[in-house]
Amino acid sequence: MDVAVRASAAAATAEDAGHGRATARRRPRVGVVKFASCDGCQLTILDVEDHLLEIAERFDIVEFAEATSRRSSGPFDVLLVEGSISTPEQAVEIARLRAEAKLLVVIGACATAGGIQALRTAAEHEAFRAAVYPVPAYVDSLATARPVADFVQVDAELRGCPISPEQLVELLVSLTTGRRPQLPDQAVCLECKRRGIPCVVVARGLPCLGPVTRTGCGAICPAFGRGCYGCFGPRENANTAGYAQALVTGDAAAGADGRGRDPVDVGRLFAGFTGATQPFRSVTDSLAGRPPVTLRPTLASPPETLRAGPPTWGPAPSAPEAPSAAAAKEAPDGPRQ
Ligand code: SF4
Ligand code: SF4
Repeated sequence: MDVAVRASAAAATAEDAGHGRATARRRPRVGVVKFASCDGCQLTILDVEDHLLEIAERFDIVEFAEATSRRSSGPFDVLLVEGSISTPEQAVEIARLRAEAKLLVVIGACATAGGIQALRTAAEHEAFRAAVYPVPAYVDSLATARPVADFVQVDAELRGCPISPEQLVELLVSLTTGRRPQLPDQAVCLECKRRGIPCVVVARGLPCLGPVTRTGCGAICPAFGRGCYGCFGPRENANTAGYAQALVTGDAAAGADGRGRDPVDVGRLFAGFTGATQPFRSVTDSLAGRPPVTLRPTLASPPETLRAGPPTWGPAPSAPEAPSAAAAKEAPDGPRQ
């Protein structure tokens, strides 16, 4: 059954067993959860302004820590999942949530492609941990940050960093009406043409990932005179190898001297928000390779407070006792008014 039709069925009208009459429609129970992420996609949900009240009317939002203190561990008719799976605990938790959700929708580049944190896959995990944390042994992270679909079955995805508010509304409407969501798989270039945005490759000789990236952002970077960073990930059947070659030879985005780009720079261009996806990753691996640098530890030795062991929560400090009336009278400034 189609993803949207299943969602509609999940909230379908209940039949009165005795008389066969339809009773009130139950609002779908919706949860929003996060794993390794910056919360930007959750903020986009709160940012749909004109539609927010309508969404709250049509869906029973039972879990959304960013927005409400109401909590639920399931079950959910629809579960929106932000963030990549980066720790052993998260791998266990996503499996539990999958069992609680009729429909699981991943939102954003972190959840759909691993996100910017997946770039650690390009170097040694231990070297990165030592470079970032004073005491890496306290950090229990997986060697890679990976998309949710690598761990559990995913029913639908919204791409982007952050997601598009329009695509979010489109998905929610399709879920309530039982139709397939209309999420285009066109290149960002088409958005430039529709909006009359001058091409930065042609007009300014800047490298841009638009020809191989799925649209959804409205070509916001080219609109501000910058090349596309590939936030929405590779579009289906994108010829990433051919486009990378054109950047290297200078057939696309040649520099002022008419020559192509440094292959290492081209490889790194593909190593962004969705750089861990196979079509982008293969370009980075072939042109830039793994960073040859040795990462330096953040600190020569951990600070005194950390050397003794992991921080622990001690007993709460007791509140200072209120001064007695007699002691207050004796104080040089007298009692406070
Ligand atoms: S996809 Fe981007 S905006 Fe969304 S949580 Fe990840 S880093 Fe933040
Ligand atoms: S600016 Fe980038 S996305 Fe826009 S038309 Fe040029 S290559 Fe395509």
